[in-house]
Amino acid sequence: MKLVKHWINGSLVDGDSRTAEIFNPATGEVSGHVSLASVADVDAAVAAAVAAFPAWRDASLVKRAQVLFRFRELMYAHRDELAALISAEHGKVHSDAFGEVARGLEVVEFACGIPHLLKGGFSEGVSTRVDSYSIRQPVGVVAGITPFNFPAMVPMWMYPIAIACGNAFILKPSEKDPSASLLMARLWKEAGLPDGVFNVVQGDKVAVDRLLAHEDVRAVSFVGSTPIARYVYETGTANGKRVQALGGAKNHMLVLPDADLDLVADAAVSAGFGSAGERCMAISVVLAVDPVGDELVSKIEERVAKLTIGPGDDERSQMGPLVTEVHRDKVASYLDLGVSEGAKLVIDGRETAVLGGGKAAETPGFWLGPTLLDHVPPGSRVHTEEIFGPVLSVVRISSYEEGLELINGGEFGNGTAIFTNDGGAARRFQNEVEVGMIGINVPIPVPMAFYSFGGWKASLFGDTHVHGAEGVHFYTRGKVVTSRWLDPSHGGVNLGFPTNK
Ligand code: NAD
Repeated sequence: MKLVKHWINGSLVDGDSRTAEIFNPATGEVSGHVSLASVADVDAAVAAAVAAFPAWRDASLVKRAQVLFRFRELMYAHRDELAALISAEHGKVHSDAFGEVARGLEVVEFACGIPHLLKGGFSEGVSTRVDSYSIRQPVGVVAGITPFNFPAMVPMWMYPIAIACGNAFILKPSEKDPSASLLMARLWKEAGLPDGVFNVVQGDKVAVDRLLAHEDVRAVSFVGSTPIARYVYETGTANGKRVQALGGAKNHMLVLPDADLDLVADAAVSAGFGSAGERCMAISVVLAVDPVGDELVSKIEERVAKLTIGPGDDERSQMGPLVTEVHRDKVASYLDLGVSEGAKLVIDGRETAVLGGGKAAETPGFWLGPTLLDHVPPGSRVHTEEIFGPVLSVVRISSYEEGLELINGGEFGNGTAIFTNDGGAARRFQNEVEVGMIGINVPIPVPMAFYSFGGWKASLFGDTHVHGAEGVHFYTRGKVVTSRWLDPSHGGVNLGFPTNK
């Protein structure tokens, strides 16, 4: 059975003897094990990164960009293999895994432009015969700690830019689906990245805590659930590190009465049940402004009835299983909770038929079909808590204002969408809503690589979003140089504060 190891200084490393199981979520069977790093394993990775940093920092911009171009070509050539690894351990269907690799590649393509992105400013003659210019330099050894739900894309939000900026990077992937990290590491090596610039430590809290405490780790990017994001932010910053920590989400789709309900129903089903709802930008609540509720719910029902649920490697499947048994059970517990809170269970995902199996609840593997709860009471736990599974809640409301208040009153502020044909209403929404990423008739508004990704409130701790210009900013430190070339007219002592002459 396979053992997924660490990747330190350009080679696979066994490390400590602690391991965890990896599952095939479609069958529930153990498919391998993953090493869990000890403090000494993390220290070895940090030491390799510290040693590799000076030469990589000094590699010219063009040389760094050339490695990135080669990495992009290799990742592109291996994207099918990468998608298959993701699907086997995460459970998402192959086409969806392929999609996450494609979105991650866009960040690599963005980072290929690093010579342009790192251009500073220059002001000639800020004072007489004095010039000023700004430069940005890498911060050193940086770490990325990532969640299970995008084992390729989320690390790719981070490392292409960190490495392009001249840093050495340590990835701590999710222990639930760790294999993609090693293929990416191998491709970096093939692309000509010097050993030690990209390292992978597999593991759990032990590895995370060591990265947060290690004095040679200068910056930490984290993506995961809100409680851990808050912990990583507080611990990392208390230890003097720069930290960006992206947390959980509860994304609402506000449907105004003038919206095209067929398009809305398509969008709600795609964004609610794609990747079994295990996306931080999934739509989990539909706010239906009267009188659209009844018609919209029946259109969603019609579409869900046609979905095919099955293993990720079966081309017919549109939605796969959930990642673990524990997570599936937690998500499924919201069905009874919702009913006890007064919601109506319109579609029960425990009853959904699974390709090659029986009802979801009775088929081996971590299955739960698409679930629809209607008349979910505003403020109930089903409405407000992050469920992170294929459970779509419909909340009936009477006005735009009521919808805005529910969104802005929530804990999270990751993504949201408004569906309307009224440009004025959409413009008002983008101005008034307290959320970082907004869709106007777009249900999953994930920004392109050249913009930055991140939410507000409990969806992001820190002030810097990932990738785009903010990513370049996060992985570099600024300097401003004021320069004068000696000339006899500068003679003479002057203790006054330097002022413009
Ligand atoms: P998680 O918080 O359980 O794990 C994320 C990472 O933290 C993993 O690498 C894990 O090993 C580590 N970790 C877990 N428990 C820890 C602890 N006690 N101490 C230190 N480290 C710990 O998240 P997950 O279940 O892997 O991912 C799903 C969550 O991620 C959801 O809440 C989802 O909304 C969120 N997410 C957010 C975004 C975003 O951009 N805001 C993107 C993807 C996922």
